[in-house]
Amino acid sequence: MTDSSSMLGQERAAVAAACRRLGAEGLLIGTAGNVSVRAGERVAITATGAVLAHLTPDQVTVVDLDGKVVAGNLQPTSELELHLGVYHRYGAGAVVHTHAPMATALSCVLDELPCIHYQLLALGGTVRVAPYATFGTPELAESVLAALEGRSAALMANHGALTHAPTLDKAVEDALLLEWACGVYQHAAAVGRPRVLDEQQQLAVIEAALARDYGTTRPVPPVHEESR
Ligand SMILES: [Zn+2]
Repeated sequence: MTDSSSMLGQERAAVAAACRRLGAEGLLIGTAGNVSVRAGERVAITATGAVLAHLTPDQVTVVDLDGKVVAGNLQPTSELELHLGVYHRYGAGAVVHTHAPMATALSCVLDELPCIHYQLLALGGTVRVAPYATFGTPELAESVLAALEGRSAALMANHGALTHAPTLDKAVEDALLLEWACGVYQHAAAVGRPRVLDEQQQLAVIEAALARDYGTTRPVPPVHEESR
C-alpha cells in the first residue's frame, strides 16, 4: 500500500465512471463484478468489496502487471489474476467483468451464445461459455482465457460475463452489447428455436462493415447551389 493517490488519477476516475455507468444500466449489482484499465505497465482495477454503482476513484487500486499493489489503500478485486491474464495473453487495454442478469442466466444453460445477430460479430461472433470454476481461482482464469481465444467476450458458466477491448469505453460498450444480445436470445428462445447466422452470412456482414466503415458517423456531402 502506498500513498500515491495521484498515480493514474485519470484512469482511476475513468474506471469509477465506467462502473457507475454499468451500474446505472443494471449490469453491476452490489459489489459483484470488476473493471480495470491498463496504462503501460500499470493497471487501475476496482477494489474488492466496493459497491460498484457508486464507485469513487479512491476505490480503484493500482497494481503492476504481476499484481503487486503500487497505489491505493484497498485490496484489488479477487479476480485480479483473471484481469492480468487477459492483459498478458491478449494485450487488452481494458477488462469488464459483470454478473449482468441476461448474460448470467444464459451462462447457466448454454455452452455458447450462437451468432443470432450480426452485431455479435463485433465480439468475434459466437460467444463461448467458459466451464465453471470457483471465483478468484487460477482455474477460473484459465477457463475464461481459453474461451476468449479469437473473441473479445466470453460468458462464464453459472457466474457472469467478461469483455475486453483496446479502450475502457469499448469494453463497456461491448459489455452492454453482450447483455443486449443475451436478452434478445432469451426472448427469441421463449418463442421458438432462434435462427443462427451461417458462416456465409457472417462473412458478408464483415465485408459490408469493412466497406462502409460501420459504426462511425459520416458527414453528409455539402449541398451544391444548383441542387437547392
Ligand atoms: Zn464474478
